[in-house]
Amino acid sequence: MAVLKIVTDKDDEEFLRKKSREVTEITPRIKTLLDDMIETMRAANGCGLAAVQVGVLRRIVVIETEEGLFEFINPVIVRKTGTQEGAEGCLSLPGKWGLTKRPKCVTVRALDRDGNEFEVTGCDLLAKAMCHEIDHLDGIIYTDKVIRMLGADEVE
Ligand code: ZN
Repeated sequence: MAVLKIVTDKDDEEFLRKKSREVTEITPRIKTLLDDMIETMRAANGCGLAAVQVGVLRRIVVIETEEGLFEFINPVIVRKTGTQEGAEGCLSLPGKWGLTKRPKCVTVRALDRDGNEFEVTGCDLLAKAMCHEIDHLDGIIYTDKVIRMLGADEVE
């Protein structure tokens, strides 16, 4: 496993704006990428990471919250309910925080690393993380949706 370099908006915002491609075959390289993304997310104290953030334009996301560790290949949001507002940050925009409005709960359908389809329903932080990371796969950054940016004194 390896900690990968995280692409920031200052390094290459144009790259972060690219659309990621579907994974058509789960090769050993894809599994290594998943492992490396988990290690990278943990090393950066993040709760989510999309492959584009480590320089790979594939539809792959990892998330870790109190609910556990999740690996998503080709994730799609199939259900959204309610709304939540709260602070949101991104490992690609270090030191910045914004107030966003997201669904309270979402259901995501994806493939696991063995190619089996599964669904996860998450609320609160997990819902926010799933929306945020899946947005990355389409080149969308949370600042596109922000209600307003937050000062350091407003973030706990
Ligand atoms: Zn992000």
